[in-house]
Amino acid sequence: MQRSYVIKPELGKSYPFVSHGKGIYLYDKEGKRYIDGCSGAVTASIGHAVEEIAEAMYAQARSVSFAYRSHFSSDAVEELGAKLAEWAPGSLNWSFFVGSGSEATETAQKIAIQYWQEKGYATKNRIISRWMSYHGITMGALSMSGHVLRRKRFVPLLADCPTIAPPYPYRRPEGMPLEAYALACANELETAILRVGPEHVAAFIAEPVIGASGGAVVPPDGYFQRIREICDKYQVLFIADEVMTGVGRTGKRFGIDHWGVQPDLMALGKGMSAGYTPMAAAMATDEIIETIARGSGLIMAGHTYSANPQSAAVSLAVLRYVEQHRLVDRAAERGAYLLNRLRELADELPLIGEARGLGMLCGLEFVKDKKTREPFPLAQGVSARIIKRAFEKGLLIYPATGGLEGVAGDAVIIAPPLTITTEEIDELIALLKEAVSSVQQELRQ
Ligand code: PLP
Repeated sequence: MQRSYVIKPELGKSYPFVSHGKGIYLYDKEGKRYIDGCSGAVTASIGHAVEEIAEAMYAQARSVSFAYRSHFSSDAVEELGAKLAEWAPGSLNWSFFVGSGSEATETAQKIAIQYWQEKGYATKNRIISRWMSYHGITMGALSMSGHVLRRKRFVPLLADCPTIAPPYPYRRPEGMPLEAYALACANELETAILRVGPEHVAAFIAEPVIGASGGAVVPPDGYFQRIREICDKYQVLFIADEVMTGVGRTGKRFGIDHWGVQPDLMALGKGMSAGYTPMAAAMATDEIIETIARGSGLIMAGHTYSANPQSAAVSLAVLRYVEQHRLVDRAAERGAYLLNRLRELADELPLIGEARGLGMLCGLEFVKDKKTREPFPLAQGVSARIIKRAFEKGLLIYPATGGLEGVAGDAVIIAPPLTITTEEIDELIALLKEAVSSVQQELRQ
């Protein structure tokens, strides 16, 4: 075999080489076809090899790809900023462009801290987050993340971010009504703020729907409304991490729109450029940016590739494509169909404890015992086996095993491109059923 000099996710493992993609399918060099049932890393949300995006990419490259943001702005960057301002809720009108979701959450964190500095609260610099969350892999973003698996080798990380429990309806105390559970979970934020001292807390960060560390865990109604009240009461900014949930994935423009709650800052990535180029953003409200503008006038963040015209043009083309093809509505409609089909599978197969999700962001949680909901020990690698089996059968699904052993479950994410048809969903479900059934069979032996 040809020698490789590339550091891959698993050293020593050989990976098939991708050859090309079309729509929801990817093909390897051996000619095998895969359904991209998780849009890669919940990223390729408009499908692969879309002609309009390739054209926009080429047109921008023919005029200018890179002009440094400290020297120039550009039509592509300005139009993208305006488009996002039109999309985002309330007065979230300002975008700071970066290259990845990790950079976006860290930039949002920095803007929050700078905002309080400009207002004269120099000690308000801590960020409260949730365990069973994922905000990125760089050390700062990982410090805010409660993804046990990804952070445990690096503890104590860079900063001590106090964490609270997220709502996890499937594993709530038995018999507890959802409304009461939603409030109890949100009220943990108040306790955490009081413990740290409101004068030290800059922001609270949360994913509207938990992705990589939980597998599409949807909060009960009332949770984020109460979070907003608590943030307002203690002058704490609310950062919605929409890196996975943003740009239509959950069937609304942004995940937080399901609860009509206004964030102060928002992190975007993934679906913003749908995998056609690295692109992400931290968005902030008028109040935050005007305060900083009246003060030092400087946002101390940014990377070489921040706001490059090439990525901006591609991202703009992606957003226009999403609008033209009504992909947000399609994510809601087809996502409901997908979730229905997953629930049927969960009724049929004892290994699946719960099928859940919102729009085209769905998850399956695997359990040892459906009645007691007892999770598998993570070391048994049940979801990893299912992912591998699905891969062999030509279906890509995404791991979501970031929770605490024995407390959180073993889950996967099913999140195909928003363009998927109902026939393609049926095809996906058939392969998924084969993969889960075959691992279920093995576990019984
Ligand atoms: N935030 C959320 C909610 C994510 O799901 C991810 C990636 O999975 C990130 C941040 C980090 O994004 P990136 O991998 O682009 O750095």
